[in-house]
Amino acid sequence: MDSNSKNFESAKQIFIAFLENKRLRKTPERYAILEEIYGRTDHFDVDDLYISMKNKKYQVSRATVYNTLDLLVECDLVTRHQFGKNMAQYEKSLGSKQHDHLLCVVCHKVEEFCDPRIQGIQNMVGELLDFEVHHHSLMLYGKCKECRAKEKGETKS
Ligand SMILES: [Zn+2]
Ligand SMILES: [Zn+2]
Repeated sequence: MDSNSKNFESAKQIFIAFLENKRLRKTPERYAILEEIYGRTDHFDVDDLYISMKNKKYQVSRATVYNTLDLLVECDLVTRHQFGKNMAQYEKSLGSKQHDHLLCVVCHKVEEFCDPRIQGIQNMVGELLDFEVHHHSLMLYGKCKECRAKEKGETKS
């Protein structure tokens, strides 16, 4: 089994336990949405997810996609991000490396970076202030390489 499907299998077990605990219906649609998410490696919004499900001929409504995403965020299987003023974006959280984001304010592209020192700061601050830190969210705003190159080209001509 590759690591993607292994992650999906563990995520599914967690999701099943969560649904049972909340006495929510365990529907094939919900598992299909989870599987689709765990097959992706990118950030996506509700529409991306809905459209790729549609393209694979899954019969799900937009409402089900919304509602399932909410549940998956609630049980920590999916992380929700608010990148700028755009629609909320999501990504799977199980099995994905700790990382933070860079947002280009021109083209709205989101890049990821990973620096263990940030985790170090989180631990240190938590200890210093006697605060049990669960997670953090860090976003660096600026201009990506491509946008800067484009700007340079425009001023030259
Ligand atoms: Zn850009
Ligand atoms: Zn990310």
